[in-house]
Amino acid sequence: MPAKLIDGKALAATIKEDIKKEVEGLKSKHKMTPKLVSVQVGENPSSEVYLKSQRKNAEDLGIDYHIEKLAEEASQDDLVRAIDKLNKDKGVNGIIVQMPLPSHIDAKSVPRYILPAKDVEAVHPQNMGEIVFGNAKVLPCTAVACMEILDSIEGLKLYGKEAVVVGHSEIVGKPLALLLLNRFVTTTVCHIATGERGDLPEFVKKAEILIVAVGKAGLVKGEWIKQGAIVIDVGINRVEGKLVGDVEFEKAQERASYITPVPGGVGPLTVAMLMRNLVEAFKIQKSEDRRQKKSDL
Ligand code: NAD
Repeated sequence: MPAKLIDGKALAATIKEDIKKEVEGLKSKHKMTPKLVSVQVGENPSSEVYLKSQRKNAEDLGIDYHIEKLAEEASQDDLVRAIDKLNKDKGVNGIIVQMPLPSHIDAKSVPRYILPAKDVEAVHPQNMGEIVFGNAKVLPCTAVACMEILDSIEGLKLYGKEAVVVGHSEIVGKPLALLLLNRFVTTTVCHIATGERGDLPEFVKKAEILIVAVGKAGLVKGEWIKQGAIVIDVGINRVEGKLVGDVEFEKAQERASYITPVPGGVGPLTVAMLMRNLVEAFKIQKSEDRRQKKSDL
């Protein structure tokens, strides 16, 4: 029997219903509309899809959305100043710095300038660190989207399962490995060096849960998939004008029990998780305000 398709769009729609209700409640309680700001330096076609999706999702949920555009030639100091202004603006609840940034900016250093309480992509080292302790209130969107997908599978018990994550980026592979570990999943992380040694098939074959986030079309061959495995394909690649993932979809579908399509799998959930983080950030800021007011009395 071919694997069941996991419908990320439908799952995202259900989650968004809950977020929408929560946003309505927060608006009437605080007489304020949550606001998300995306900072974009220069124009990058690869960011456009994500920006469009952010705007659409924000609008659907009654969240204010604004893109703060900086010129391509803006310096690192200009960017830091723009972030700082948003950090101090009480009307702004969430800040995203859109990647990729122009090469003259040190992209790795940028997350630490975002106020942790407004860091809705959970890229600040403080928010990343909280994941280690299982205390994080906001979580990296794509990593938590993968967990959400696993949790949507009826009857699946994660405890003791064997997972393989292919890709060890700061935004997906590494935080995802920690989230899996926090749920007592036995987790192996593979990366470029695993691939270069030719060891990838051996690891993938053992995976009861396989999550691939690399960005290379067809990297994971269908015949490597363990019979009955759950396959989450995070990769987005454009091949002959079509979007495809990192896993050979048709062949993998013959062996897996569940599989996410590309597009329509992880992508829609990632944006839903961003909006959920924004709501969380709004609540954190409001409770900090209350604490501040009390200590001022
Ligand atoms: P990245 O580009 O930062 O890192 C790629 C990772 O793949 C690295 O860990 C690298 O070591 C590993 N890798 C490269 N070649 C390999 C090989 N031959 N064998 C094994 N590992 C190899 O990755 P990223 O930013 O996490 O993005 C990965 C993919 O996921 C991209 O296609 C990106 O577009 C996609 N993505 C999708 C979403 C979504 O919402 N669906 C979100 C984020 C990223």
